Amino acid sequence: MSSTRQRATQISFEFFPPRDPAGQAKLVTNVAHKLGALGPAYFSVTYGAGGTTKDGTQQTVRSLIEAGYAAAPHLSMGADDSDDIRSLLDNYATDGVTRIVALRGDQPSGFGAHRFAHNAEALVRLIREHSGDQFEIEVAAYPEVHPDAQGAEFDLDFFKRKVDAGADGAITQYFYNVDAYEDFLERTAQAGINVPIVPGVMPITNLDALIRFSDKCGAEVPRWLRQVLADKQDDEQGTINFGVEVVTRLCQRLLALGAPGLHFYTLNRWGATSRICQNLG
Ligand code: FAD
Repeated sequence: MSSTRQRATQISFEFFPPRDPAGQAKLVTNVAHKLGALGPAYFSVTYGAGGTTKDGTQQTVRSLIEAGYAAAPHLSMGADDSDDIRSLLDNYATDGVTRIVALRGDQPSGFGAHRFAHNAEALVRLIREHSGDQFEIEVAAYPEVHPDAQGAEFDLDFFKRKVDAGADGAITQYFYNVDAYEDFLERTAQAGINVPIVPGVMPITNLDALIRFSDKCGAEVPRWLRQVLADKQDDEQGTINFGVEVVTRLCQRLLALGAPGLHFYTLNRWGATSRICQNLG
């Protein structure tokens, strides 16, 4: 049920699931309500590497729905078999979930050669086979190319297969190079991929954390950005202010290019994300 690329501009916010019910309640009260005031289309909740946060993801999604928000669980095969996934899908439908972010998923360390045992395309097929059009399905996309890919064309082909399998839209890995997104939009259009591709946005609040995440997921932090952030390393507030400024500019340029929305990787914090959204009006 692939839709056309156009869709109303929307923002969404990503959380990771807190460990216990107290943490989940705090996330709703202290963070979701702050970001909820900005009118997001939905909150999404990640699924730990290899499915390690299955219960936490479900419970966090439930808490958000009970608080009146639309919430989309991330889902990957992890250690589960197809029947486990089918029953999880049924639970989500009962809980009122209408959107799922379908992923291969990161693998826990030690997974080694088995890391390609599953892929997101197969998961999208499984969801469509089992649940029909019950859920909107988002998949991941990589303007700077997935680190496992043998090349940009290869990566684009994997993306197309997920869309052809039934994904309605995509959220990208974060990036700070607008050209990568513009070029990706052109290449996907040429490949006949017509779903909305929402840029994933990572607010910048700390250089070390940014470099750690980026090295892991293959996002490039441009040299100029690293250098300016390094100069501000002993100035926490200065780093945050500069990060807000840089990411606001990035978002403005993405929206000017026609980005159909913005998906913020909040890391369960609201401060920088909400300042960026306010700057964007
Ligand atoms: P796929 O689309 O299956 O593959 C991605 C790429 O890997 C392909 O394009 C291809 O280049 C390469 N590849 C795949 N299979 C093969 C193969 N057999 N041979 C060679 N190359 C291959 N991870 C989590 O664990 N939990 C989350 O909640 C989570 N949320 C995410 C949300 C977003 C928006 C994004 C962008 C990423 C998220 N991730 C999450 C990370 C994601 O799981 C990893 O990037 C993972 O390595 C790939 O997942 P995928 O769904 O893109 O996989």
